[in-house]
Amino acid sequence: MTTLRIAAIADVTEAEGPGSRFAVWVQGCSIRCPGCCNPHMFDPSGGTAVEVEELLARLDRVRGRVEGVTLLGGEPFEQAAVLTPFARGARERGLTVAAFTGHRLEDLRADRIPGSGELLAEIDLLVDGAYQAGRPETERRWSGSANQRFHFLTGRISLGVENLHPGEPERTVELRIAPDGALTRSGWPEP
Ligand code: SF4
Repeated sequence: MTTLRIAAIADVTEAEGPGSRFAVWVQGCSIRCPGCCNPHMFDPSGGTAVEVEELLARLDRVRGRVEGVTLLGGEPFEQAAVLTPFARGARERGLTVAAFTGHRLEDLRADRIPGSGELLAEIDLLVDGAYQAGRPETERRWSGSANQRFHFLTGRISLGVENLHPGEPERTVELRIAPDGALTRSGWPEP
């Protein structure tokens, strides 16, 4: 299986993990955290179908401008089998892989979600845990709630890169205008 369902792509973003990254929002999430900012990404049959090879070709077009890829959504591990070759392809190109998941690392390591062990083996930074609207994150970049954990699985992404330093803005928000005029927003969903 090489067809992935995706909700969105940002070819070059500085709002979804360390440095400049190629971000893929996958379509489909059965976790359904109350207060999730992406409920339009819940339906696994929504979004758009894309072949892994197409996605890698699109990544190649911006390869010199990004240091890694970020997988988020939606729930990346619900399409683990298809994302694994994409993540592997990114690494073969010398890029790092970051992923945001509502599952916990322990469950992924135990392969409780089919294919999760293989995808995990291709990830350098995993941010895990279901979003908790009552515990908003105030001290770290990129995560939505304070319960979520940063796991540096390989040493290819620097430990502590998520911590905010005095004077640094708490949140990054990016607005993008597509050639057809459509406006998309990423980083922090609501002001
Ligand atoms: S795991 Fe992520 S996408 Fe899924 S409901 Fe929770 S916050 Fe939303």
